[in-house]
Amino acid sequence: MPHFWLVPKDQRHNNFVLRHEATKSNPVALRERYAALQCAKCKKIDESIAIQRGIDEDVRIVARQDYVLCGDGLIAVSQRLRDLLAENNINGVRFAPIPASSNYFILVPALTAPTDVETCGMEFRRRCSVCGRFRETLFFPLAASMEFPSDQRLLLASSIRFEFALGETFCFMASDYVVDILKASKITGLEYQVVD
Ligand SMILES: [Zn+2]
Repeated sequence: MPHFWLVPKDQRHNNFVLRHEATKSNPVALRERYAALQCAKCKKIDESIAIQRGIDEDVRIVARQDYVLCGDGLIAVSQRLRDLLAENNINGVRFAPIPASSNYFILVPALTAPTDVETCGMEFRRRCSVCGRFRETLFFPLAASMEFPSDQRLLLASSIRFEFALGETFCFMASDYVVDILKASKITGLEYQVVD
């Protein structure tokens, strides 16, 4: 059963969620609500815990697409996409509400494919000596390094975080069964790249 990465298309707007665009000297600042979660050294936060604490009232998703990569690496999905997944009993993810954007939700992985670090083929750069997270990772994990569940009706993430300077980029996969459903409904804002 082939799987595909759901690769978000470029966005016109940054749509920061856990951070906000601040001053010239500090262009992207963490929102006060999450300050206690921040690693003292690398300044990253656990995104899943932050999302559980709630999204600030002034966060607004400015987009037209169904699948939106936010500036701090989170994925926002439209109500239309959420409904489509629910109608088709597709699980593996949770939807965190955005108070000021009732039509969008933050997509949170609830299920991960166990991924073998040794054989995944990714590159890991600059590990934080305090929290253990990497500053940056390169490449997608290889299909052979991941254990996929037998249930096809899932969106799922790798157990390895995809890191960039600010934090984790949430990245989801789906089986060809799910991709066919997304394509048939003309879900916008993403491309499908085979997991190989
Ligand atoms: Zn750290």
